[in-house]
Amino acid sequence: MTETLDKMANIEPVKLDIDSNMKFECHKKVKCFTKCCRDIRIILTPYDIVRLKNRLDLSSEEFLAIYTEPQLLEKTDLPMVILRLLDDDMKSCPFVRDSGCIVYEDRPTTCRYYPLGVAALSHKEGADDEGFYFLINEPHCLGFEEEKIMTVREWRGDQGIDMYDEINAGWTDIIVRKRSFPANIKLTDKSKQLFFLVSYNINKFRSFVFESTFLTLYKVDEKTQKAIKDDEIALLKFGFKWLKGVLWKDDSIKVNEDAAALRKNRE
Ligand code: SF4
Ligand code: SF4
Repeated sequence: MTETLDKMANIEPVKLDIDSNMKFECHKKVKCFTKCCRDIRIILTPYDIVRLKNRLDLSSEEFLAIYTEPQLLEKTDLPMVILRLLDDDMKSCPFVRDSGCIVYEDRPTTCRYYPLGVAALSHKEGADDEGFYFLINEPHCLGFEEEKIMTVREWRGDQGIDMYDEINAGWTDIIVRKRSFPANIKLTDKSKQLFFLVSYNINKFRSFVFESTFLTLYKVDEKTQKAIKDDEIALLKFGFKWLKGVLWKDDSIKVNEDAAALRKNRE
């Protein structure tokens, strides 16, 4: 999503709302087919990684090592990961072939949005805030010459964006909140490591919750424990909630004061 904001700097955006029409179609017969899958910067969201690593039958750690590069997200100082492109002449996405995207059903959020950009990021959980949109009308993209017209809402539905945004909402909130802070307010290295762990390494985060003193230190009821044990989406959402507590010192997940005091004494 940040990529679309970067690109916005080079174009004159026309503000669209959720029911605005857009004239665009992408299909295998367009002359530019797969051109947008080269020389790009795709920031991966937490749910992107869950979908892709499961698709490729990898652990999150393996996926991170093979397919991603770390980066710091501008204005937030938060660690991000981007898709690692191939070292070929065209800097291709590792998943693009002449026939198209080989992970199409599990393609990242950025690929789903394109050519739609989001000009406001305020995906507050439960809030009815759609933000506003614009089209990234790049010269190589000939989809704008097609005749099909649909609304932004229809495009989002067609591309499965709503579900991705809903699952990532807690994570997006953290980024938006951090971005609104003055630049001199820094997170500790430990906080950044925890942000990275929850956001991108779901397998390791599960071990952290179930194989460390986590469940002694935090009050997590049995129903929640059961829900997050085998459901990666529930675990992600729980992780975002817990992260907010760690980063902003709120009590989204309550601390077990006795265990915390005992640990402090030991330290
Ligand atoms: S993941 Fe698929 S849609 Fe996205 S850039 Fe790569 S090949 Fe293209
Ligand atoms: S450049 Fe545009 S029309 Fe061409 S394949 Fe990519 S999204 Fe579709």
